[in-house]
Amino acid sequence: MGLSTFKGGIHPNDGKNLSKDKPMKAIFPKGDLVYPLSQHIGVPAVPVVEKGQRVLEGQKIAEAAGFVSAPIYASVSGTVKAIEPRRVAVGDNVMSIVIENDGLYEAASYLKHKPYTELTKDEIRDIIKEAGIVGMGGAGFPTHVKLSPKEPNKIEYVIANCAECEPYLTSDYRRMLEEPEKLVEGLKIILQLFDNAQGILAVEDNKRDCIELLEKLTEKEKRITVKALKTKYPQGAERQLIFASTGRKINSKMLPADAGCVVNNVDTVVAVYHAVTEGKPLMHRIVTVTGNAVADPRNFIVRVGTDYAELIEEAGGFKKEPAKIISGGPMMGFGIFDLHIPVTKTSSALLCLTEDEVAKYEPTACINCGKCVEVCPGRVVPARLADYAQHSDRDKFLKNNGMECCECGCCSFICPAKRPLTQSIKSMRKMVLASRKK
Ligand code: SF4
Ligand code: SF4
Repeated sequence: MGLSTFKGGIHPNDGKNLSKDKPMKAIFPKGDLVYPLSQHIGVPAVPVVEKGQRVLEGQKIAEAAGFVSAPIYASVSGTVKAIEPRRVAVGDNVMSIVIENDGLYEAASYLKHKPYTELTKDEIRDIIKEAGIVGMGGAGFPTHVKLSPKEPNKIEYVIANCAECEPYLTSDYRRMLEEPEKLVEGLKIILQLFDNAQGILAVEDNKRDCIELLEKLTEKEKRITVKALKTKYPQGAERQLIFASTGRKINSKMLPADAGCVVNNVDTVVAVYHAVTEGKPLMHRIVTVTGNAVADPRNFIVRVGTDYAELIEEAGGFKKEPAKIISGGPMMGFGIFDLHIPVTKTSSALLCLTEDEVAKYEPTACINCGKCVEVCPGRVVPARLADYAQHSDRDKFLKNNGMECCECGCCSFICPAKRPLTQSIKSMRKMVLASRKK
């Protein structure tokens, strides 16, 4: 049987060999920890600590400010040094709590829960909400909201997004290889919320070792299957993943729940496991530190709030001068110019490249080759949308389904004229979304 996939997509050099074979390593931050109050989609959290206050690892330092919001926890023990704006990876200054690390890692006592099979659905959702878990694949949508659809009985698939299709990223790969039990148990906890759902572990077929391991672990689990997906970017984008795993289609006006699906990435499912079985709030994540400018690329278990510069130091520093540093993957990440940026709940990678592939070429005129259309998983015409965006023609942009773009970057990657297609479309989408919010 052929592997499940979607139409369009690309096969970039995946760069995963740099870090994929090294085990994850836990690191202990030395400097101050910075916790932006907005590291999730929704209302920023509100501080519940004051300057000068001593805090413990695992202590709540900011409370959720509404249903679509998430609390934040200290990941070290120390003293609150400041509550002030600090720069985050996307370039904005965000109000943040700064903690001076005392190096003692004195932990708060965690609330132990009953075995998860004895917990009610509401109890599980409350634990996840209280633990501050958000989508750790990059979106940062509060997980308890995702797990509270209007009609839970209509959810037929709970998909663990194990595709990890972005080039260079290997954190989900290492997690699956080293801690597959946590992933499977986390999925079983989420399945307990949806009586009519099957669980799918959706893995790209370039991770055969993970597929075999997960198949073995779940052979007696009647509600869980492992689905091998074709290796192709952006296989892990929500719409493409749902289509490849279930054959169901969603568009920009729909939520996965409208197609009977709930999707969570690997790190998020594992965070659910830690919260429900150990009572631990979200304080850590796995970050891939990689790229040909880094001396010893690998995956680190990182405390949220750690400075990016410390990750580079742990990876042996730079062996060559980086021309481009990206927070996240090369396709969907953000270029950064300062390494003093905190790791947040949604930071997946720090990629340091010796060549800036984008800046290397000057864009030229479109030669109408049609390649951008061929690869576009959103089934739109990127060249046309980019033109409308550049001319600020919002009506035509919308009429030509500009909002169906998932900002995957395939069109810019393939364009022989090196036109900044994704960049233009992204800016227009941002404007439309901002005006809709108003
Ligand atoms: S138009 Fe959007 S969805 Fe289509 S290839 Fe470009 S970035 Fe991806
Ligand atoms: S890939 Fe580039 S050159 Fe080819 S049609 Fe699209 S915009 Fe034009």
